[in-house]
Amino acid sequence: AAILLAAGSLTACSNGSSNSNSASTASASSAKIGLLLPDSVTARYESADKPYFEAKVKALCAGCTVLYSNADGDASKQQQQAESMLTSGVSVLVLDPFDGEAAASIVAEAKAKNVPVISYDRLINSPDSSYYISFDNEKVGQLQGQALVDKLKKDGVAAGAGILMVNGSPTDNNATLFKKGAHSVIDTSGYKILAEYDTPGWDPAQAQTWVAGQITQFGSQITGLYAANDGTAGGAIAALKGANVSPLPPVTGQDAELAGIQRILAGDQYMTIYKAFKPEAEQAATLAVGLAQGTKPAASATTTTKGGASIPSVLLVPVAVTVDNIESTVVADGLYKASDICTAD
Ligand code: BGC
Repeated sequence: AAILLAAGSLTACSNGSSNSNSASTASASSAKIGLLLPDSVTARYESADKPYFEAKVKALCAGCTVLYSNADGDASKQQQQAESMLTSGVSVLVLDPFDGEAAASIVAEAKAKNVPVISYDRLINSPDSSYYISFDNEKVGQLQGQALVDKLKKDGVAAGAGILMVNGSPTDNNATLFKKGAHSVIDTSGYKILAEYDTPGWDPAQAQTWVAGQITQFGSQITGLYAANDGTAGGAIAALKGANVSPLPPVTGQDAELAGIQRILAGDQYMTIYKAFKPEAEQAATLAVGLAQGTKPAASATTTTKGGASIPSVLLVPVAVTVDNIESTVVADGLYKASDICTAD
């Protein structure tokens, strides 16, 4: 899923003074770009998205500045952060919404100031965002569900056995897509969903509390556990260990965060989903710099919002990771060195 950029659109910025296209280039090469991320309970944002985004903006536009805020799981805080960026004169907002519905009002305020908004990783339910860059998120859920079902079958777990589902935040459109994808596999697998939960703000502590309650209720009927990301998987596994469940049921995850990869190696978590955050962040940075320079880069696909609007999109491909392919995925890609992964156990 490559993005096509208008020919030469990024050279003016990185070449600085040697370009003849002076007036607009001068202001575009000192543009401010706002990056708004949704929560601080998930490792990826400050360990991957933010540094990759900032580095790419700098590489394309040495004089550009990235303004960064994290909403800490609070939609009104994110609204204020966006407003303060608009007041300080950003040229573009790259917005990963804590709440994809509420964030439509940020897009409306930005539009009133002629500031384009890129919907980053999570879709904003607005007809006015300029781009959506993410992964195929329904596919993420399918890969998680399929890995879980295949593992149960491989282990000889009989049809009718029980699965718990720990989904993501009800304010996150991605969580809806992960859930839909996972259900499409689990619902037709012959296994039974004992109970499911939408975790407020993707908070691992709340996932842990919920799973602890389910262990009290269902005990050994729990033969598999779907967790939508590594944060909630960590909470779920802490609850299972806290109740001395042994052996642990297979637990899914997502993000290939370091703690998740380490749990997979230790045998506590069954799988995760590797989404290459670097190309996601870098393509968002490339789009943002292009927009700051007044170009309108073309995108390879479109995504339809709940409201029926068509948003130009770049959707990257997720990969399932178990102990068998850690090396050929996250290590081969340079995300972690074997020594990073191995120190903790
Ligand atoms: C992202 C996941 C992340 C989750 C919690 C989702 O929208 O796609 O990568 O783990 O939010 O922040």
